[in-house]
Amino acid sequence: MSLNEFDLIKRYFNRNITSKNSGVAVAIGDDCAVLDIPNGYQLAVSTDTLVSGIHFFADVNPYRLGYKALAVNLSDLAAMGALPKWISLAITLPEIDERWLSEFSRGFFALADKFNVTLVGGDTTKGPLSITISVKGLVPRAKALLRSGAKAGELICVSGALGDGGVGLACKTAETAVNNPQIFIDALELTEPRVELGLLLSGRASSCIDISDGLTQDLSHILNSSCCSAKLQLQSLPLSDSLLNELDLGTISADQALQYALTGGDDYELLFTVNAASLEKLRRLDAETRFTVIGSIVKPQTQLIQLFKDKNKVSLSLDGWDHFKD
Ligand code: ADP
Ligand code: MG
Repeated sequence: MSLNEFDLIKRYFNRNITSKNSGVAVAIGDDCAVLDIPNGYQLAVSTDTLVSGIHFFADVNPYRLGYKALAVNLSDLAAMGALPKWISLAITLPEIDERWLSEFSRGFFALADKFNVTLVGGDTTKGPLSITISVKGLVPRAKALLRSGAKAGELICVSGALGDGGVGLACKTAETAVNNPQIFIDALELTEPRVELGLLLSGRASSCIDISDGLTQDLSHILNSSCCSAKLQLQSLPLSDSLLNELDLGTISADQALQYALTGGDDYELLFTVNAASLEKLRRLDAETRFTVIGSIVKPQTQLIQLFKDKNKVSLSLDGWDHFKD
């Protein structure tokens, strides 16, 4: 290893902080970073670890790894309605591979710059490849979007489209063969965190979560925290043009597409609940991100999530492949 730890940090991670409103009083280079929290705001903090061989494939493109490691963290801030501000990065490397580091930091900073977030510190160690990112964001006092605020009578909405991330993963593990796998792999690896939508939802949605483990599983977190149940309309689930195209081609069946949308995971869309009045306001405000009403919150029932196709109740296994029964 030609480069020592300090040179490595300097070369790949310590960039001059140029933005005047970065809120960084002390940056990388001291024992701690010191950050300014404006009056009237609270700090939202989240940490995620990605371990090679478990959360990503060991031979993953390092640009995409740097990008995605940050994207999943920014998605957590979006789900709280927080404005992302600062990041710390703890990285464990088996060796110093400069080409790998250069690409990793390029992907990481591509997304950091897009959302104007500043890397303020971290840790660099030697060992099996693993990445831990902690993000810090600002949320107006008492306005954080929690999982616990959904109420019976409210509508359930989801941003973007569902299922592409799950199909992307299935393409990588060769579980499925679609006509255009790269579109789905891109959806999996170059996730777009819904930061702007999260900010719009703050103070308007009653609950919110980002979809990392699949719609039904993440919805069940909201329902359990809010002591409610849900009715979902299967015909309303938003599918991407790419997924609809595969349906047309017959490479994915309608049942499979629904399964990916309901349980696929890795979509990083926002799932939220609103009352009818807030929904109308959001529709007027949200020019950029599409979102779709997919169901409603009901009082607690024995079945946490009931699935409907138009007016008919359907039963569909939510944890494995199954077929519809009426
Ligand atoms: P200490 O021994 O006090 O923990 P380090 O030598 O680990 O300090 O780190 C020196 C400085 O570099 C600290 O400000 C730390 O936050 C920062 N740093 C270390 N690794 C990284 C990294 N991967 N990315 C960004 N900053 C880092
Ligand atoms: Mg340290």
